[in-house]
Amino acid sequence: MSLSQGRPYLAIPGPSVMPDAVLRAMHRASPNIYEGDLIDLTAGLIPDLRRVARTKGHVAIYIANGHGAWEAALANVIAPGERVLVAATGRFGHGWGDIATGLGAEVEILDFGKQSPLDPGRVEDALRADKAHKIKAVLVTHVDTSTSILNDVAAVRAALDAARHPALLMADCIASLACDRFEMDAWGVDVMVAASQKGLMTPPGLSFVFFGDKAAELRAGMERVSRYWDWRPRAQPEMFYQYFGGTAPTHHLFGLRAALDMIHEEGIEAVWARHDLLAQAIWAACEAWGQDGPLQLNVDTPAYRSRAVTSLRIGAPHGSALRKWVQDKAGVTLGIGLGMAEPGDPAWHGFFRMGHMGHVNAHMVLGMLGAVDAGLSALEIPHGSGALEAATRVIARA
Ligand SMILES: *Cc1c(COP(=O)(O)O)cnc(C)c1O
Repeated sequence: MSLSQGRPYLAIPGPSVMPDAVLRAMHRASPNIYEGDLIDLTAGLIPDLRRVARTKGHVAIYIANGHGAWEAALANVIAPGERVLVAATGRFGHGWGDIATGLGAEVEILDFGKQSPLDPGRVEDALRADKAHKIKAVLVTHVDTSTSILNDVAAVRAALDAARHPALLMADCIASLACDRFEMDAWGVDVMVAASQKGLMTPPGLSFVFFGDKAAELRAGMERVSRYWDWRPRAQPEMFYQYFGGTAPTHHLFGLRAALDMIHEEGIEAVWARHDLLAQAIWAACEAWGQDGPLQLNVDTPAYRSRAVTSLRIGAPHGSALRKWVQDKAGVTLGIGLGMAEPGDPAWHGFFRMGHMGHVNAHMVLGMLGAVDAGLSALEIPHGSGALEAATRVIARA
């Protein structure tokens, strides 16, 4: 029989769960885009976005997904033929590098594999070796959503400074913003990209490029930037339509307003602390399951684990079987193992991910863990006992 009736839970790493307040905010007639409330509402989003990113810098909004933000950020500071250094710790690091290649950049990749964080020492060595300062930007993924590795972005700033290298530090915070602590200004990040559908709890379709004065200066020196990706009119519009290079994404803006209100009401520090404790509960359960049988956390060291997504190895075909069981029987949808093996390879079925970003609380996490525990038993996948007790002990510390 199936026990999946009731409210379904999409526990994938984006799009994330949409709060009812966001849905309600979007359920309305089309607003006027030439005058009225929308104009003020949009202007009010800017300081609140800056607060979430912990920056006094600029922000440009794009009607695009994360891939669009990747392209927008690069298009403003990297000309064809210029070099970027990519520190890759999974599929998304390589993805941003590929966008740079598509824009004609010369891309140097430092590949740290799928289970280890970036090594700032190797980044520093690569920067020191670049005596002519040909590298214009270092691209870092704060959380790589495929591997669930959390990288130390501040350590990359330290590497740039130690090498006395002028390259921009560019960070992808699409998975981590409003989940894992991120301090754009304090960590010396020049450009940061984010998107609406993860920690920001709003449907996919909006993305953001935050940039500081050093990046703005570089933009000013560019020979040519495509009109649509140019961040200048978007960050400093003289007319309302310039925020978006055309028609405003009306309903996304209402949704984002409600989401930012929720984040600021809870407080960003409290949002981070909630993600931290919920992630620790998940790790505790996974470690207990892993005492016996094939299930293992992809990242060994807790300091390098994301608080927004957890990648797991369980061996084929258990990953796909478990995802199917918890969806069909329990109404929980888990994430596929992205980028861990090629889709045609039987090994592809040996991975899965848990998304725990944004509008997530203790009962959702405990429910998901309970469903996985039941699935492991029902499918007779060997696993250690005591996972739910381990998770509830963490939750009890709240
Ligand atoms: C989701 C994600 C992306 C891609 O975002 P899309 O909206 O799917 O284009 C890029 N980087 C990271 C870290 C992500 O989590």
